[in-house]
Amino acid sequence: MERVRLVVSGRVQGVGFRPTVYRHAVEAGLTGFVRNSTAGVEVEVQGIGPMIEVFLARLKTRCPRQARMDTLHAEHLPVRPDEQGFQIMPSERSGDLVVGFPPDLAACGDCVREVLDPSDRRHGYPFTNCTNCGPRFTIVSSLPYDRARTSMAAFSLCERCHKEYTDPSDRRFDAQPNACPACGPRLSILGADGQVLPVESPLLEAVRLLKEGRIGAVKGLGGYHLCCLARSDEAVRRLRERKGRRDKPFAVMFADADEVTRYCEATPAEVLEMLDVAAPVVVVARHAGTELSSFVAPDTRDVGAFLPYTPLHHLLLKKVSPLVMTSGNVSEEPITHAEAELSRILGKIADFALVHNRPILRRCDDSVVRLVRGEKMVLRRSRGWVPAPISLSRGGPPVLAMGAELKNAFCLTRGAQAFLSQHIGDLTEHPSLAFYEEAISDLCALLGVEPGVIAHDLHPAYESTRLAAARPADRRIAVQHHHAHIAACMAEHRLEGPVIGVAMDGSGLGDDGTIWGGEFLVADYRQYQRRGYLQTLRLPGGEGAIRHPVRMALGMLHAEFGAEADRIGSRWLPALQDADRQVLLRMLESGTQAPVCSSAGRWFDAVSALLGLCDTISYEGQAAVRLQAQAAAGTSREYAFALDMQDDRVLLSFRPMIRKMIEDLHASVPSADIARGFHETMAAGIAAVCARLAESGPTDKVVLSGGVFQNELLLLLVTDALGRAGLKVYSHREVPPNDGGIALGQAAVALATMEAG
Ligand code: ZN
Ligand code: ZN
Ligand code: FE
Repeated sequence: MERVRLVVSGRVQGVGFRPTVYRHAVEAGLTGFVRNSTAGVEVEVQGIGPMIEVFLARLKTRCPRQARMDTLHAEHLPVRPDEQGFQIMPSERSGDLVVGFPPDLAACGDCVREVLDPSDRRHGYPFTNCTNCGPRFTIVSSLPYDRARTSMAAFSLCERCHKEYTDPSDRRFDAQPNACPACGPRLSILGADGQVLPVESPLLEAVRLLKEGRIGAVKGLGGYHLCCLARSDEAVRRLRERKGRRDKPFAVMFADADEVTRYCEATPAEVLEMLDVAAPVVVVARHAGTELSSFVAPDTRDVGAFLPYTPLHHLLLKKVSPLVMTSGNVSEEPITHAEAELSRILGKIADFALVHNRPILRRCDDSVVRLVRGEKMVLRRSRGWVPAPISLSRGGPPVLAMGAELKNAFCLTRGAQAFLSQHIGDLTEHPSLAFYEEAISDLCALLGVEPGVIAHDLHPAYESTRLAAARPADRRIAVQHHHAHIAACMAEHRLEGPVIGVAMDGSGLGDDGTIWGGEFLVADYRQYQRRGYLQTLRLPGGEGAIRHPVRMALGMLHAEFGAEADRIGSRWLPALQDADRQVLLRMLESGTQAPVCSSAGRWFDAVSALLGLCDTISYEGQAAVRLQAQAAAGTSREYAFALDMQDDRVLLSFRPMIRKMIEDLHASVPSADIARGFHETMAAGIAAVCARLAESGPTDKVVLSGGVFQNELLLLLVTDALGRAGLKVYSHREVPPNDGGIALGQAAVALATMEAG
């Protein structure tokens, strides 16, 4: 006889790990117990040596799929001669068990099979879940995670469900949201006027309406989706019109993996990512000639594809698919999650609503990822990952990092763990601001922390900065936008500085009061030196030029050709009226109302507009999306660039490129080739600056961050060029390169600053 004590850490709480341990132990004839602990899970098993070996082997190979064992410590203990049986001991349900509070998990295969099995008592039941799957984050009011503190509290378990819930050998043991048709939530369907439609099956009625081309609001895990037939031009266009979303891509939900591959060029790795328990939207390429409506994503061949992640989705998509599934909101406002808000979309955007009586306590949008050479790059980290913490290399007092202005997410630290919030959205939208404040209080309460340190962006006009100033704090730490981007990428790779940080971004306020966004920072967490930047462009007419790439194009022409830009602009920028062009040129000449910026995003805008791809944008990044789509079809071409030294800084100048591009336009070189050439030149220039800095600098580590690196083509070109130069490259994986990841960097900078005193 032997007795072994195991301490397992990782994602092992709230994911069906203890019942699994129980089953393996009982099957191996072992006695002992399992329980949650602050470290993770603690197990003691007793029996003959070979059976303990069998148990350990099964534990390692047959773990619940959403569980992840990071470490497993084993030690021998004295045998307890009179021990009987194996038990799951109650967890100490203290607030410290936040490790045990997982994100929402996609419906597991077992539950889906039951829902689709006509002989099962849960056949057709949309709220089926088990210990391994189901809602978590979006239904919990407070911790510890117990049914009484979820939005399932109002539903009492029927006898059969209660038996499952209390039987350690059942796969629904301790499944807090356990429910069945007899005792759980129910569906109903509302017409455009908000009245309940008297139909026998709300689900079938929704299917019928969708097939007719109607737009539905469907209550999901973290909010309402707006959905319609993804193959119908008419339905998709109507949705765009009503939602006020002209061109920004919509996500599409497919019935299953087979259907995805019929419409999209998804690799096996991409399909696996869609099947992950987080069930994110994965950006993949559409097949040429696909039947998906081109209005799903008019600017690009890419489409955000995802799979059903609740039983309701499975049931719906079995009958009607594929469906556009986009956040139920007006424009960029936060996703609608409460019945009371439904009137904002029902009757206005949606023709009907498929709803149910399980309240959503916390809104949470879908997450979005892209696979770059098989490696995951998260573009939006939300449902399925929040609130799983990110481990930092250092701890400290609790920090609240406010994030930036667009694509906002904030971050709260506790010890050395960083909790990045769900996607909040654009704080320029009034309702987002309310959601932001509510979400901050909510996460603080959930984690039981009152952060005394607040980190925020340098920009005084950001709503996040204003709120930082309004909140009580012992200390406020302003973090430069691009330093925060670089620190975010360092933090996720647990890199200590110094590094060469390359922030290719839209815009952010620099420490000299000008707009930055194409920066080379030699940085650690505490500080940075700006050692290089992109050639600056002027924004004629001020920051409004961000919405009008054609103005940036004129600014670019003026930077190279001066007064000649009038003639060249009249030839190549027909979208600008003569009078407007002249007004803008006067601003460029005098420098009034034409601030300079070093932003990479603005270069993409300028070139996109010069090629006639995008004069005015309807969503952030649109001009760059179109330019990248063009470049994908182009042949290789590299323009000249120049590295000029300005004091101790490297200035990456594209002046030779601008001149050559105009020559190319005159010579009728295809715009796809010019677009490709621009990407290659930008990448070569970035790599050249890094190589120059590495020669004289303290490191060969290059960290890539900023929203422009969502551009897969640029990211790959830069990564390869840096690799050829013998430099080590780090880019984002788990945390977005865009402003959705910036709060993590702010938090890391604040912790390092606090440590330094
Ligand atoms: Zn399940
Ligand atoms: Zn029941
Ligand atoms: Fe940014």
